[in-house]
Amino acid sequence: MTEHHIPYSLALHGGCGVMAPEDMTPTEWEEAREHLKQALRAGWHVLSSGGTAVDAVQATVLVMENSIYFNAGYGAALNSDAEHELDAAIMDGETLAAGAVCGARHIRNPVLAARRLLDLGESVLLTAEGADNFAKQQGLECVESDYFTTPRRLAALESMRRHQQAGTYKAARESEKHGTVGAVARDINGHLAAATSTGGYTNKPAGRIGDSPIIGAGTYARDGVCAVSGTGQGEFFIRHVMAYDIAARMSYGGETLEQAANKLVLGEFKQLGVGAGAIAIDAHGNVCAPYNTLGMFRGWVLPNGMAVVATHDELFEFVL
Ligand code: ASP
Repeated sequence: MTEHHIPYSLALHGGCGVMAPEDMTPTEWEEAREHLKQALRAGWHVLSSGGTAVDAVQATVLVMENSIYFNAGYGAALNSDAEHELDAAIMDGETLAAGAVCGARHIRNPVLAARRLLDLGESVLLTAEGADNFAKQQGLECVESDYFTTPRRLAALESMRRHQQAGTYKAARESEKHGTVGAVARDINGHLAAATSTGGYTNKPAGRIGDSPIIGAGTYARDGVCAVSGTGQGEFFIRHVMAYDIAARMSYGGETLEQAANKLVLGEFKQLGVGAGAIAIDAHGNVCAPYNTLGMFRGWVLPNGMAVVATHDELFEFVL
């Protein structure tokens, strides 16, 4: 994508997959895009008021965690026990400080708990009850886990169970399985940050942790190089250390952001048949958002200060 002329930039994703048009009504697609716009605006407001990249990605992810359309926070996927186990991470490219929670069941906005850990600087990753208790102690809002449950996620779980019984699990629609939200930003001082939040995938084994809260796999930021947030089959992102590999290809291999991100998403993962997408930003604020599935909820700010959101091929330009 083109060279950036404004001193900060921002991109987001709301998960990738098949995303068949009939999965939602036209009004729902429209509303989902509206929520992406709100998320971009929230982060952009932070950046244009001189705020940090870390605050911007947090603000962007928060809006998507609160949206019914994305598999993170409210509306998160259910695991094989019909429970929610939420993962999130946030990383500051300036200091490499990071915070993450995994397997959390009660934290209304997991990205906020991750952020507290980043700020405190003691532990990087807290799991399950430890994460929930930490959030409570920090005074963050905690909820009964049925807060996260929506009719769509219950239907997806039933469908995945049927697929499992019928032995057609692999053929199940991506939209019934996956989803994640994430944001990457570069602030006015050139600092980078990334954040990712997810419910994982529908019918995942209880206790399964994905790539999103694993620093270097689904989330990574390093000033001078790039910030990355991934979406797709997390097991492969962990094995390939996806987000860090993009950074390593750039810093050791001299690849551009686009070359590095495309190599993984459109190259290695595609060859393996792994549905994957990522958003990434480099030290100059260039953004790329490759995906190898039919669609990916995504959006970014254009160099001219306009912005776009998209779900499939069509880009919807709007005024921030
Ligand atoms: N990467 C997420 C996970 O494996 C799911 C997704 O993005 O679709 O937990």
